[in-house]
Amino acid sequence: MKFHAILFAAASGLAVAASTGPGFAAGPTIDDLMKDQDNPKSVLTYGIGTQGQRFSPLATLNKTNIKNLVPAWAFSFGGEKQRGQEAQPIVYDGMVYVTASYSRIFALNAMTGEKVWEHEARLPEGILPCCDVINRGGAILGDKIFFGSLDAKLVALDRMTGKVLWRKTIDEYDAGYSYSAAPLIVPSKRGPLLVTGLSGGEFGVVGRVEARNPENGELVWSRPVIEGHMGMLDGKPSTMTGKANESWPGDMWKTGGGATWLGGTYDPETNSIFFGTGNPAPWNSYTRPGDNKWSSSRLALDPDTGEIKWGFQTTPHDGWDFDGVNELVSFDLKKDGKTVKAAATADRNGFFYVLDRTSGKFISAHPFVKNITWAKGIGEDGRPIYTDGGRPGDPAQAAAGEKQGKSVFSVPSFLGGKNWMPMAYSKQTGLFYVPSNEWGMDIWNEGIAYKKGAAYLGAGFTIKPIFEDHIGSLKAIDPATGTVKWEYKNKAPLWGGVLTTAGGLVFTGTPEGFLKAFDAATGEEVWKFNTGSGIVGSPVTWEQDGEQWVGVVSGWGGAVPLWGGEVAKTIKNFSQGGMMWAFRLPKQVAAK
Ligand code: CA
Repeated sequence: MKFHAILFAAASGLAVAASTGPGFAAGPTIDDLMKDQDNPKSVLTYGIGTQGQRFSPLATLNKTNIKNLVPAWAFSFGGEKQRGQEAQPIVYDGMVYVTASYSRIFALNAMTGEKVWEHEARLPEGILPCCDVINRGGAILGDKIFFGSLDAKLVALDRMTGKVLWRKTIDEYDAGYSYSAAPLIVPSKRGPLLVTGLSGGEFGVVGRVEARNPENGELVWSRPVIEGHMGMLDGKPSTMTGKANESWPGDMWKTGGGATWLGGTYDPETNSIFFGTGNPAPWNSYTRPGDNKWSSSRLALDPDTGEIKWGFQTTPHDGWDFDGVNELVSFDLKKDGKTVKAAATADRNGFFYVLDRTSGKFISAHPFVKNITWAKGIGEDGRPIYTDGGRPGDPAQAAAGEKQGKSVFSVPSFLGGKNWMPMAYSKQTGLFYVPSNEWGMDIWNEGIAYKKGAAYLGAGFTIKPIFEDHIGSLKAIDPATGTVKWEYKNKAPLWGGVLTTAGGLVFTGTPEGFLKAFDAATGEEVWKFNTGSGIVGSPVTWEQDGEQWVGVVSGWGGAVPLWGGEVAKTIKNFSQGGMMWAFRLPKQVAAK
């Protein structure tokens, strides 16, 4: 026994030396993560800062010299596995960490694009991802990289070698649970925590937000987001979410959805984790009279306990699959001579909301897409003013011999005025840059019963364009007034994230294959580059060797080709791919 103990001590001693000795950086600390936005030499968090602003202070690259931005390298994810590439890369200490379709992660040399290591999750048969086999990114802390896989597992890897350090199961993949978001790392009284949600709202799973010890993956707390379910803290039941049956009838809350599939943001100023929650299940809203809390909502959670500080429901009693998962971005709202600790979100339901992030109090909501049908607007209490007849009909009221309720044409479509693709907020212009889509759908309800691992919708739909020349629309929105300052129209639906910089630029990609840059003040297109496949990932920028770099993944896919109805037919010829592209502005031409 003694002999083994000595061996073990020697082995762990070596492991410590290997990750802290010469040539090896110990890795970023929680303080480094909290200061991510201010340090342009690395990109440590999903959102370029945990507040999710996607604003870089780098100003070298601007609308004049961007003509000199050139590709430095491109890396192929390889294999036969392509499909949608929705990741945001992490950049640290000369390395790029990027995830890819089918739950893969790559470590690349940031100067050359050469592969240092790769890890591919061994996915079982029978996984149930609703909306393509995508992954949105990893998280970094110390010597570890974390990411989640489509079989609802979380993995920690040694960031230098790719060696698996631990692996934990979130929930059963054959019940419809999966994972595709970038994990979030937050500080707490007991040290950094790894915070994750889960996917599966189309299968009647129940959404949760969970915090783990990043050292070993052990669960610290779990917070179900649907009322009636019990939370956990330190291995014991903690508190119930809401009050059972307050806004849900019968047993419907037990399979009530609210998937927390997009991950969250963290605001250090209020010490709050913000998570959005998906649609209530099933889609057929006549099965569940009531507000169905906290589906289609934004929640603020206490990092120490997982308790809910406040909730704001964007679509009470949703009947259109208006998931409320879209990112809540913290910012300082300047209005009437005052500065308010605010947060904004552009919801699937077509409205751009501004909330007080200290309390969740409603400040304003304005439509950011055109021709919204389901609501006439948002009232002063923050609740939608529903349009009479805007909800698809009750199948129980169907005409004799019919199984379907009355079909309605609804705008936005269920893929949303905006879907998962993150917007950006410029501290320089004070504007939000929102990747949106202008489209509608025929939607109708049908009868449905819950069956484990089966789609739990009780609805049918066909997505249709509403304008001839475009669906995609990148909009610059003033959060104080809801005014659209400029708009860039794109023929295909936009499905990629946005980046803005102190150089006065806005970047986003198009399904047609271009990475594009716009003047942040005017919307003028100032640069574009064809990456060879559609871009549905989120661009980043960093400084390396005294030069400004821009990186983005390319690879067409995601929910649109799978669910897009008539829209999908118009874009079926786009080529698939799977590349990470890196661009640089050479020093010699930076001033020109
Ligand atoms: Ca959904």
